[in-house]
Amino acid sequence: MEKLFSKKFEEMSKEEISDLKQKLIEFESSIIKLWENAEIPYPCHFSGGNEEQLIEIFKEIKPGDWIFSTHRGHYHYLLAGGNPEKLKEIILRGDSMHIFDKNLNFFTSAIVAGICAIATGVALALKKKGSNNKVWCFIGDGVEDEGHFYEAVRYVDGWNLPCIFIIEDNNRSVETPKSERYGTSEISWPRCVRRYHYKAIYPHVGTTKWIDFSKSTGSNEKIGGPSF
Ligand SMILES: [Mg+2]
Repeated sequence: MEKLFSKKFEEMSKEEISDLKQKLIEFESSIIKLWENAEIPYPCHFSGGNEEQLIEIFKEIKPGDWIFSTHRGHYHYLLAGGNPEKLKEIILRGDSMHIFDKNLNFFTSAIVAGICAIATGVALALKKKGSNNKVWCFIGDGVEDEGHFYEAVRYVDGWNLPCIFIIEDNNRSVETPKSERYGTSEISWPRCVRRYHYKAIYPHVGTTKWIDFSKSTGSNEKIGGPSF
């Protein structure tokens, strides 16, 4: 299987969109099962509950555009046209948080807000080259708490760079809702920042049960970092 879909999103029928949503859920469920069986003894962050919102966004993403993702990148990669078998290999070798694919202009940083400056730099390069392509930078709402995000947004807005930041807002930074992080403060970001809301589903963080990784079949010799 090369990728989860064969048509452009905007050409898909309602049934085909619903089928794609189901395939995303099935992929993630299969990985969750492996993780719960202690077959992936590495950090993994699962997606869920945001399939429809993401498919809507990916309708706008064109070939040649750049996609920057986070520690929670499985869905982004699959919707970018990533091969699910390849993604499974990446996850099994411990690189769930470091998905990289040169052919798809797909890059990840698992550092909170760390991706914003990289996305901004690529957007600057695209503008200098006179490219029509854009940068799409996915971030969690925890990134709104970070100064790096503010700096990148101001630079992109001020120089009108082809970069869109998409806040995937589940009102959680790890487990802490916004009200406990910064009270009632709301900032109006410029138009290069978009937001969608979703309710995270099990097991977005934690599985509520203990998993014994001591008998894991995965390698325990991995040092970490992306494999190019
Ligand atoms: Mg969040």
